[in-house]
Amino acid sequence: MTTFKELGLNAELMKGLDDLGFVEPSPIQERSIPFILKSKKDLIALAQTGTGKTAAFGLPILNQLQANKKDLQAIIICPTRELCLQISDDIKKFAKYSKNIFVTPVYGGERIDSQIRLLKRGTHIVVGTPGRVHDLIRRKVLKLNTIKWLVFDEADEMLDMGFKEDLDAILEQTPKTRQTLLFSATMSNSVRSIAKQYMGEAEEISIGEKNVGADNVTHEYYVAQARDRFDALKRILDSLPGIYGILFCRTRNETQIVADKLKKAHYDAEAIHGEISQNIRTKIMDRFKRKQIRLLVATDVAARGIDVNDLSHVINYNLPDQNETYTHRSGRTGRAQKSGISISIASPRDVRRIKQLEEMVGKKIEFKKIPSGDDVYQKQIDSFFEEVEKTNIDEISNEKYFQEFVDKLKKLKKDDLINYIITNKFSHLMKSCKDLRDLNSKTKDFSVKKRDDGNNINLKINIGKNHGFDIKGLFALINSNKKLKGAEIGRINLMSEYSVFSVEKGRANDVVKFLDGTKFKGKKINISEGGKSESYQRKDGFNRKYSGKKRGFRKARR
Ligand code: ADP
Ligand code: MG
Repeated sequence: MTTFKELGLNAELMKGLDDLGFVEPSPIQERSIPFILKSKKDLIALAQTGTGKTAAFGLPILNQLQANKKDLQAIIICPTRELCLQISDDIKKFAKYSKNIFVTPVYGGERIDSQIRLLKRGTHIVVGTPGRVHDLIRRKVLKLNTIKWLVFDEADEMLDMGFKEDLDAILEQTPKTRQTLLFSATMSNSVRSIAKQYMGEAEEISIGEKNVGADNVTHEYYVAQARDRFDALKRILDSLPGIYGILFCRTRNETQIVADKLKKAHYDAEAIHGEISQNIRTKIMDRFKRKQIRLLVATDVAARGIDVNDLSHVINYNLPDQNETYTHRSGRTGRAQKSGISISIASPRDVRRIKQLEEMVGKKIEFKKIPSGDDVYQKQIDSFFEEVEKTNIDEISNEKYFQEFVDKLKKLKKDDLINYIITNKFSHLMKSCKDLRDLNSKTKDFSVKKRDDGNNINLKINIGKNHGFDIKGLFALINSNKKLKGAEIGRINLMSEYSVFSVEKGRANDVVKFLDGTKFKGKKINISEGGKSESYQRKDGFNRKYSGKKRGFRKARR
């Protein structure tokens, strides 16, 4: 086992890490820390969410910082306010015993004057969002001419969020001698583009992919309107009597609210998130590990360190903002050879994202109807009888009082006993399951979508946007042939050099037969079955051209 000390970190940092309970460096830390300590070369470091990237750049920078100088020495650029705060908090914690080191987060949505005041006091490290950093540069409060390290964290988000202009302006202010470090979960186009524009020749460290589409996990989704989300959750939980799992929420606030409401409704649930003290978190985790709590309601960050192997379910209270997060969450179940189920409660407008998630995990995500009262009742009854059958009487049958109990029960009439059990155990359930309203979103029967998959075939064609091809062009092409007129076209994905579209099964052969070898704007068409819709891997969700307006089937009109 390599230690942090062996990686070359000083005693103060070691002490800070000790307080945080970091014993062993993670793989990305093991490789990045010595590199940044020794080399001036730029670095691209790729590792999944939750693998400790903050420390991977934070520690070696802190280790080399000159606290006796007042100069700003490092700037960390990240896409959101939350990340800014998280990163600067983390770095402050690492530097707890490193004397006189100042870290300042700057981000939009908050008064700029207090941030300006902090900057004027002097700081060694700035952690900022591109917009606010740019603003502070324009106001001449922030000067980057002394920085030695420039870090892009979560760089895969940055360009997509429209920060290009800010980044250009920021980069212009930094000295050529800087070392640029880019950290990201994935090698996206945005990352490539940042590397190309703003970095020199870079070392690349990539920690292999894990966790993608764990084999033992099945995926399901329900669709509910936002206002019905909590009720839908309760129904789902009620229909899963044996559940042992994690319910993921987006924010600390939501986590707390959902957990409180569940507790009030007598579910075995507890919240863990960053605002709950470490002490209480540890206690909750202990109880969860002993299964005294069946459902942990957690933020992604809080759930990261959780190391439990036999979860039956992971529930996404809503779809996570980033597709990768879905994979990480799902990977929490289905471990150690056990099977697990990943459940999502989607809003009607989220449904198109399900397709992207399917492409990402490489598996079908099954649409499920939110259980009705009858469904819940049936599940609970079944589970009761299963429990009865499974009861192991050996444990107590030797006890002193057992026999007396048996004798007394035997004296009771069978019918009385049955009435008693039903009244006590099930009358509440019967009442609560009666006449429950249907929570399934009325807007659409999402199961119908399956038709699209079952009855359609993807065709790949060697012309794309660069050839002037577009939807109109596709329909014109289809209609130009008498034999193909009116063929039903499903999804269309226009890429630069090629396109993929789906067509009803019965016509697919004809489409290939009649179009292959013909010409589009002088280019010979090559068309064949197959091809994945790559645009579905976009991070922000969807093929811009088809932002939901044109769902479903289109008839090629004449
Ligand atoms: P990433 O940026 O890769 O998503 P973070 O840097 O936010 O990951 O770290 C994820 C979590 O793991 C944090 O709670 C962090 O404190 C913890 N962590 C990081 N490195 C270690 C380590 N070496 N040992 C234990 N916990 C760690
Ligand atoms: Mg991070």
